[in-house]
Amino acid sequence: MDQPATPPAAAYAPLAAVRERIAHAARIARRAPEEITLVAVSKTHSAERIDPLLAAGQRVFGENRVQEAQAKWPALREAYPDVALHLVGQLQSNKAEEAVALFDCIHSLDRPSLLTALARAMDKAGRRVSCFVQVNIGAEDQKGGCALADLPALLARARAADIPLAGLMCVPPAGIEPAPFFAQLDKLAADHGFAGRSMGMSDDFETAIMLGATHIRVGSALFGARA
Ligand SMILES: *Cc1c(COP(=O)(O)O)cnc(C)c1O
Repeated sequence: MDQPATPPAAAYAPLAAVRERIAHAARIARRAPEEITLVAVSKTHSAERIDPLLAAGQRVFGENRVQEAQAKWPALREAYPDVALHLVGQLQSNKAEEAVALFDCIHSLDRPSLLTALARAMDKAGRRVSCFVQVNIGAEDQKGGCALADLPALLARARAADIPLAGLMCVPPAGIEPAPFFAQLDKLAADHGFAGRSMGMSDDFETAIMLGATHIRVGSALFGARA
């Protein structure tokens, strides 16, 4: 047999705690908590672990692998048809069709080849999936995200290809204060006329909210540490 499912109360408490932290940060920033979408990042966690969050009313979830999401979510969605599924990890162009079929929002559009694949997949499926353009805000070598210098051209191409743009996304460098990077993403989004800013994770989402985040991507604070 599988491990017993986490009891609902135990899974509900972290959700209630995260919601309270969101409300607190929003209050300090004089923002309405409803402006902030909590994307519950359920990557690596089983359907049994996700169920209590669904039962507690959470409806927006994030995954970082197409195959894992395909294995978990169709069954969960039968029980909860109003779930919105976001892709928060890097996407290979050859998975674009599957991603467009499965996800309601993609946070990792970051290069022309992926843009072309997504536009083609959306045309074929007759379904437009809104995308955040991921920016390599710390100019890190091994990191996903579009270089700052390439952003205007990528945005122009996305608009030309009729890809609905939700805004900008970033993952700041690990181990240093993220606030300057969040502030920079906020300004970049404003400069390009976007309302959406996908930034902030378990360890720094309050800072992100104070600096304008509209979508926070929270995994371990809701589900515990990943294996
Ligand atoms: C895993 C992941 C998250 C969630 O990280 P936590 O620190 O567990 O909250 C957020 N964003 C992206 C892109 C991720 O891959």
